[in-house]
Amino acid sequence: MHHVNKNSPAPIALRAVFSTAVFFLSIFHFVTPALNAQALNQLYTAAPAIEIPLAPPAQNATVYNAAPGLNVFFVSVGQGDSEYIELPNGENVLIDGGPDSSETSGLAQFLARKKVTKISHVVLTHPHADHYKGLQYVFSHLKVDNFYDTRMDNTGTSADEALRGQAKDLGVNLVYPAPGDKLSWGPGGVEAKVFNSCPQQASSGDGKAINNCSITIRLAYQDTSMLFVGDAQNDVEARMVETFGAELRSDALKVGHHGSAHSSSDPFLAAVQPKRAYIEVGPNNYGHPTQSALSRLQKAGASIFRTDLDGTLEFPAAASFGPAPLPAQ
Ligand SMILES: [Zn+2]
Repeated sequence: MHHVNKNSPAPIALRAVFSTAVFFLSIFHFVTPALNAQALNQLYTAAPAIEIPLAPPAQNATVYNAAPGLNVFFVSVGQGDSEYIELPNGENVLIDGGPDSSETSGLAQFLARKKVTKISHVVLTHPHADHYKGLQYVFSHLKVDNFYDTRMDNTGTSADEALRGQAKDLGVNLVYPAPGDKLSWGPGGVEAKVFNSCPQQASSGDGKAINNCSITIRLAYQDTSMLFVGDAQNDVEARMVETFGAELRSDALKVGHHGSAHSSSDPFLAAVQPKRAYIEVGPNNYGHPTQSALSRLQKAGASIFRTDLDGTLEFPAAASFGPAPLPAQ
């Protein structure tokens, strides 16, 4: 079909370019309709009532959305917890701040990279330093609208009172959720339900008692769900199973207490049935994550991801929003 002089190098090169182009065009031809069909299916059959923004607004300078939908980042902060969540309605959530209040912390760098200057909902699961210290940075450098807290006072430190005082002085709206509460993190179609907390005044210096106050939240969006349990331990897990049962079922689990032996019990994992288990952990002297917790998670059928081995991890809401999980740079 193409008459070319075989002795002439230029037409040969052209022919190579042409056949390469034909090759890629043929791939494009077959792949694109499949993607479009999947996207359309997602938009019009999976969730007809929910408007999914196709692209972040161009003028959006405060919250950078990597992709529309619900995006969860398990931020690599060393030995401690910090999860950053982009909600479909453009708001954002930070659950815990990790163990470092400095401007060079993993969390501070993550927020700077994403150009985040404002957080709609900050959650302190419980007043331990590996969860609240990074929030000192957040309250000092970013605008915070709502602060979800327990009324548990850690008698071993005054830093938790200082943080709470800071939030109050800044005029941040304070919320003390109770088990069974639904948080108004919609109206983008996200359901946020609380399964555990300590909304009543309490004080303790005991690590386990403080861990067991952990605000536990399940997020559900379209056909995806994830459960954040802070450092809740076995007995609270048992209470949640008894009270909420099958409501606990979630695709992804932020593993309790950095993979401690006293969390992720078999009955709890049987109720949650996580497909993906995210462990926030760094160098530590506690033996976290423990082999016993890892074994129970594996036995429950969960794929395990760890911030100490993989860095910051991302959990997209649905396969059509991108591959999962993506290790951050
Ligand atoms: Zn912890």
